[in-house]
Amino acid sequence: MTTPKRIVVLTGAGISAESGINTFRDNGGLWENHRLEDVATPEAFARDPNLVQRFYNGRRAQLNDVNPNPAHIALAEFERNFAGDFLLVTQNVDHLHQQAGSKNLIHMHGELKKSRCLNTGRIHNQQTDINATSLCECCNTPSLRPHIVWFGEMPLDMEEIYQALEQCDLFISIGTSGNVYPAAGFVEVANSVNARTVEINLEPSRGADAFQEAFHGPASVKVAEFLATII
Ligand code: NAD
Repeated sequence: MTTPKRIVVLTGAGISAESGINTFRDNGGLWENHRLEDVATPEAFARDPNLVQRFYNGRRAQLNDVNPNPAHIALAEFERNFAGDFLLVTQNVDHLHQQAGSKNLIHMHGELKKSRCLNTGRIHNQQTDINATSLCECCNTPSLRPHIVWFGEMPLDMEEIYQALEQCDLFISIGTSGNVYPAAGFVEVANSVNARTVEINLEPSRGADAFQEAFHGPASVKVAEFLATII
């Protein structure tokens, strides 16, 4: 096997599970006891902004008690030592990849620790709760929403992601169920340019057949094991 030169890694909720953050597929389609339609769509926000803000306030507060696990750390260490191009794309809205030290990182579904101004579109750091009276620092009005890509909205930085996928020679998907598009389709782009495609997941994902190789088991063990084979 030749050493890869351009790697794209996609991570999903499964990589953060062993840090104590629930995935939603493992909970019967619920995320922290909520139906996604009630908290993670623009319609839900228009209908009941307080409920949606409370949901994300809870998720944001939960981040104060969690730490990166060996899978996040292995990816950051690998990136530091890798001489080629390395892009980490995460569907996760937690900050565990940054905390572990990952550098070239895209949060395609946004970040809990950021908010967005509904008037200007500007993005702000957000460590605390957002409520009906929280004022936006750019326009001084109560116009903040979570910087989260909801179902039905366009994920972030897609052009950069597809460009990297079209040039990669190794694509690794970690801890994602393959249910959420467009991320679930990234493997097909990598296959189309003859990249090596690898799935690391607790169990075969919905899109498992599209990958050339699979390693099943906990990310905290399997990620470091696999990365050690390609340096
Ligand atoms: P998902 O919940 O649909 O699927 C998680 C996958 O991870 C499952 O296939 C499961 O078998 C696997 N998994 C569970 N524990 C694992 C472990 N220890 N090691 C390896 N694999 C494990 O997640 P998804 O595909 O990322 O889609 C979920 C969407 O929900 C994302 O878009 C994300 O924005 C959001 N979400 C984010 C978080 C987070 O930020 N940590 C948590 C829940 C949901």
